[in-house]
Amino acid sequence: MSRNLIHLISHTEIASTVKRLALEIERDYQDRSLVLVGILKGSFIFLADLVREIRLPINNIEFIRLSSYGASMVSSGQTQITMSPPAEAIAGQNVILIEDIIDTGLTTNTALRYLQNFHPTSLKLCCLLDKPARRQVPVNCDYLGFTIKDLFIVGYGIDFDQKYRQLPNICYLEEK
Ligand code: 5GP
Repeated sequence: MSRNLIHLISHTEIASTVKRLALEIERDYQDRSLVLVGILKGSFIFLADLVREIRLPINNIEFIRLSSYGASMVSSGQTQITMSPPAEAIAGQNVILIEDIIDTGLTTNTALRYLQNFHPTSLKLCCLLDKPARRQVPVNCDYLGFTIKDLFIVGYGIDFDQKYRQLPNICYLEEK
């Protein structure tokens, strides 16, 4: 089966949304310092752009990894932590979890519950894209970029079978 790559959100729109999210975070945290935890691998470009827009002290940047879609375009519904930040990097910190896309909600829900075990002072969620159509568990997103339809997204760090991450804009794949 072949797939069409279709443009959805331009790099310019992404950049202004990343700036808006950084301002919202600055307003909420004022002079407090932050720890950002990116969910690998999809959030790495979003996190890199966001952190350079936040004019607050950033104590640390950590990563967490959960099992992913692999070469499938549908979530397996099973989520496991495969790489963890050290507990001491989270304990007593104001933590923001950075995610690329919320779909069923299972990944962010699992990651938030896992990080809560490390006793952060506060824990919030910042997500670039939300696809509410297929939600299975409720997720409260504190900082949200775009709400989109149920499309299979690639680009701006987000892959299909490890490809397309380097696209500067957000696209979707359509099966022909
Ligand atoms: P959830 O657990 O909410 O169903 O899915 C979250 C994870 O699935 C995200 O971390 C993301 O990596 C992946 N995901 C969700 N939707 C898409 C999509 O449209 N395209 C790609 N490439 N990955 C997605």
